[in-house]
Amino acid sequence: MRVEVLGVAFDDLTLDEAVGRGLELLEQEGPHLVVTPNPEIVQRANQDPEFSEILSKADLVIPDGVGVIYAAKILGRPLKGRVAGIDYAAALLDRIAGTGKRLFLLGAAPGVAEQAAANLQAAHPGLVVCGTHDGYFKEDGPVVDAIRAAKADIVFVCLGFPKQEKWIAANGTAAGARLYIGLGGSLDVFAGKVERAPERFQKLGLEWLYRLMKEPSRIGRMAKLPLFLVSAVGARLRG
Ligand code: UDP
Repeated sequence: MRVEVLGVAFDDLTLDEAVGRGLELLEQEGPHLVVTPNPEIVQRANQDPEFSEILSKADLVIPDGVGVIYAAKILGRPLKGRVAGIDYAAALLDRIAGTGKRLFLLGAAPGVAEQAAANLQAAHPGLVVCGTHDGYFKEDGPVVDAIRAAKADIVFVCLGFPKQEKWIAANGTAAGARLYIGLGGSLDVFAGKVERAPERFQKLGLEWLYRLMKEPSRIGRMAKLPLFLVSAVGARLRG
């Protein structure tokens, strides 16, 4: 079942259910797209019809961001809960490690994806990382060729939104993998370059606050977030 939150339809799944769905998608011919929208992404989709269309056609739409959960509640259509993209990625890797499925990491500054690959292989014994590529390339062709040559089954595409989702929509078929997941800054976290919020912040739904404290330059991006909840209240009042 999908739940619409301010123009983006989310799958109402727990982390385990979403992982199960990802594993099912991996068994079917691709390309399949998994997106992890937070309030910023929903706001962007409302201003960018191409992006909105890509999200609406995604195979799995996971609510990454406590703001989406609050907005769903305000709208009277509560979701089961937040599923952070990075938790989703890690849980999926737990299940595919040792199965022979092949993971390709695309994105972030040069060297980051390689470091992330090493850390992920240490954290998930038996995981096959079949290739990496940084996210600062000029032409798509060589990247598509690298993914295809690596015979990737899953690609974590970490170019930031909406670039990563548009990249997957344009190149997913040619690159030949079955499952593409747009994961924003996750490679920086997997590589240990960016620290994730401590668990107590995560539990309180304050991961965004921790991120703001660490990267105050994000204030401009985040200042729009209260408007997101105001929009939800407006939509609810209008019925
Ligand atoms: N990035 C990239 N290529 C680009 C622009 C960004 O690989 O052309 C990477 C950037 O290095 C970072 C990630 O994309 O690792 C975006 O991280 P951010 O936390 O801003 O994304 P969000 O999670 O908010 O979508």
